[in-house]
Amino acid sequence: MMDGEIVYRINESNEDKSMKKSGKVYLVGAGPGDPGLITVRGKSLLEKADAVVYDYLANPKLLQLAPVDAELYYVGKKGGARHNHTQEEINDILVKLVKEGKKVVRLKGGDPFIFGRGGEELEVMADQGMAFEVIPGVTSATAAATYAGIPITHRGYTATVAFLTGHEDPTKTESNIDWEKLSTGAGTLVVYMGIKNLPNIVEKLLKYGRSPKTPVAVVRWASTPRQRSVVGTLDTIAGIVVDAGIKAPALIVVGEVVSLREKLDWYEKRPLFGRRILVTRTRQQASTLVAGLEEQGAECFECSTINIQPLENYDEIDGELERLKEYHWILFTSINGVKYFFDRLHKKGMDARDLKGPDIACVGRATADLLFNYGINADLIPNTFTGEGLAESLLDLGVEGRNILIPRAKVGYELLPETLRGAGAQVSVVPVYQNFPEGDCVDMVREKLRAGELDILTFTSSSTVKNFISMFGEEGREELFQLLKGVKLAAIGPVTGKTLRDNGLPVDVEAKEHTIDGLVEAIVDSCIDPD
Ligand code: SAH
Repeated sequence: MMDGEIVYRINESNEDKSMKKSGKVYLVGAGPGDPGLITVRGKSLLEKADAVVYDYLANPKLLQLAPVDAELYYVGKKGGARHNHTQEEINDILVKLVKEGKKVVRLKGGDPFIFGRGGEELEVMADQGMAFEVIPGVTSATAAATYAGIPITHRGYTATVAFLTGHEDPTKTESNIDWEKLSTGAGTLVVYMGIKNLPNIVEKLLKYGRSPKTPVAVVRWASTPRQRSVVGTLDTIAGIVVDAGIKAPALIVVGEVVSLREKLDWYEKRPLFGRRILVTRTRQQASTLVAGLEEQGAECFECSTINIQPLENYDEIDGELERLKEYHWILFTSINGVKYFFDRLHKKGMDARDLKGPDIACVGRATADLLFNYGINADLIPNTFTGEGLAESLLDLGVEGRNILIPRAKVGYELLPETLRGAGAQVSVVPVYQNFPEGDCVDMVREKLRAGELDILTFTSSSTVKNFISMFGEEGREELFQLLKGVKLAAIGPVTGKTLRDNGLPVDVEAKEHTIDGLVEAIVDSCIDPD
């Protein structure tokens, strides 16, 4: 292939641009909270949306699925509070967007047709002759029950379940709910929007024949890391809910099946459930650590302390790429080192075949995995995934008189090159990217620490430690150190741990295996009650 020439051209778009796009509303159930509970169809529509109109109970994380240039409209209506948008205003927004020819995803919490006013919105669409589709969602009743370990039907208990709203005041004379028939008419009752009216609801159920000893569960923010549930009986639950400070959004599950929770509770039993963890990271880093911690039940907040950027000038690395054959070793000490090295290699019209000569070492598994994606199997990965570990392995092999290239950050840890030079190697440390400290999350972190809303902080590199501390400035340092006394600090390995100690901070958790999985495991171990 000649320089810059494009050999194959993939058809950019199948769409006939001359065709006028016709708008449509997709009423999509977002599910109850856990973003993983949206349907595959809902997800694929979000990924293609021109506009997303969403409300309070739809998890905002789902918006990340929409294209970056999609228009986003928040039309949240928080129960009890003054409404941000009237239903008419929401309808007007939808009609306007569809008339503009847009594919509009109307994203609603849970299932749009279960206490979601989905029917009302679509009636307007139908009256106006607009095209629409509905995609069901996991409704919060089934999610709350599932995530609280309560099967809402069970052959040994009941074959009937009823969903009802507790929003309307049961004491008002003309109620839409026939409490007399319902109280004993269905084995399990799941009440939406009923927290404020709980005492009245209980009163009606008792009045119409439900036993005061009927088990009841109340589940708030079901299927999210903030989930909170309490259990009682009809005669105790109202007091328990007040004492626990449980507010909307919550569901009330009434019926004998609630007793199964004792055996089947799984979600709240996960090892990190209820732990609030601050994950410090680089701005560009994928959140594999967050995913790993959330999988174990933690609630994570991300704080980027480093912003990784390309260099202004690549002359130095370009010169080295010309003479790769002269090197015996290339060492990669981070995934960014690999990424930016290959970016440059490719820009120069070179590829993996040009790396045939030197042996290649990686500091750890993640770096080696990325290298593998670029077509190269690392020749060496130390047993201990640190700069020291890498230096040791190389010293074992003998480095005297060897030419070694280390493509890495502009400012980095000097121990590795110094050790190798000390053993007689010729080492070229060449920058391929640079990193800048960032401070966008200082206020969020300070507020959460002051409110006692963080249990653990994680650090995955020495630079995240240094940048995290310097983010608070000289003046904020003392308060930061005071606040950190109530929090566990977790380090990915001994180098990061040492940086914490050198800065006067304790290391409460240190991963044995210096990988993201190793760090998750160490945090889980540290949280498991020894009893
Ligand atoms: N269409 C939604 C319900 C909207 S009505 C659905 O299918 O789930 C709003 C009520 O739903 C709230 O007052 C609360 O009772 C319930 N709810 C919604 N999400 C919830 C959640 N994550 N946890 C507990 N209750 C929830």
